[in-house]
Amino acid sequence: MSLKHFYIFRHGETVSNNLRIFQGQSRNDYLNEKGMNQAYELAKFLADKNLELMVSSPLNRALETAQIIARKLQIRCLRMQQLIEGNLGSVENKKPEDLTDEEKQIFKVWKRLLPQYMSVSFEGGETKQQILSRAIYAIHQLAKRPETVFGVSTHSTVIRLLMLLAGRYQHKIPNAQAFHFTYENGVLRYAEDENLLLLSCCAPCSCAVIEKLALEKRRFSVVFYNPNIRPVEEYEKRRVENERVCTTYDVPFIPLEYDNLCWRTLTKGMMREPERGKRCSLCFHMRLKRVMTYAKAKRFDAVASVLGVSRYKDLNQVNAAAELASFETGCPYQLIEGRKNGMQIRREALIDKLNLYQQTYCGCRPPRGKVDA
Ligand code: SF4
Repeated sequence: MSLKHFYIFRHGETVSNNLRIFQGQSRNDYLNEKGMNQAYELAKFLADKNLELMVSSPLNRALETAQIIARKLQIRCLRMQQLIEGNLGSVENKKPEDLTDEEKQIFKVWKRLLPQYMSVSFEGGETKQQILSRAIYAIHQLAKRPETVFGVSTHSTVIRLLMLLAGRYQHKIPNAQAFHFTYENGVLRYAEDENLLLLSCCAPCSCAVIEKLALEKRRFSVVFYNPNIRPVEEYEKRRVENERVCTTYDVPFIPLEYDNLCWRTLTKGMMREPERGKRCSLCFHMRLKRVMTYAKAKRFDAVASVLGVSRYKDLNQVNAAAELASFETGCPYQLIEGRKNGMQIRREALIDKLNLYQQTYCGCRPPRGKVDA
């Protein structure tokens, strides 16, 4: 099957969006004036993307957005039931402050994207897994069609879950913003045409990822924010080596502040915790949250990291910290492969080739004769 492109977007604004009312499937508003203007603006953005077919959720807000754009682009517009917003059961037509205590608890985890939350649902509603399953079924079906480039008008929950499937934590889905996905051999990917900020902990963990992104001609910078490393001489050594790798591949290198006092305050009383324990969760979260805040201020599109590249690290622990930081800051987090598909072998080869300094401990605990990073 050839490569397909999907420009997937959330409908324009409705009165209920403005009033913060959960719409789900039962509240079937049309667009308000702002929403219609957003649809016209989106049509301008999509004008040079060569869309051949528009498909839409059957709900009025999505269909109206899709029809405005399809008319402007002079393409057909089809409805697809599987693209409908999630059934939010008992909370539909309510505002967040009107939820019962039980619904508020469910809402807290409904918004999160880790696998353990996929079976969550409101009373009488769909689980997130059910919503994702029907949405990806729709994408598979569309990919069988002869057209190559599709516009897809749908809803925030559907898009957030498709993003997750494509390896991205994206908590905020603005009205009428298009996200570009590609689809090939049954795999949906987030299209890699954005400005990425890569958090690096050291040269050995990041070298193969930096090389791969550079060879793919991706737009990205490397940020070095590791106040966990001590002593400061060791921090400097790793910073200099990481900058050397970036210079080799002509990638911008951004060192942030060395705030070891702040790190030590955060982890006070935890130095007896084992590696992969609670201290590491706090450490990952602190670094990722600072970098995501920086990324938003400097208008990067998303953050990625190599914090889980070393085989001594628990990748799920890193991803959980990243998901939480992304939830708190609103900055998307892109999962990046640094271990599989030959990346570890390439990493070893580059360490030799570039004669990189290899530390003998992760960061916060100088060695006791044991190599741990
Ligand atoms: S072992 Fe590494 S990841 Fe864990 S707290 Fe120390 S520096 Fe951070």
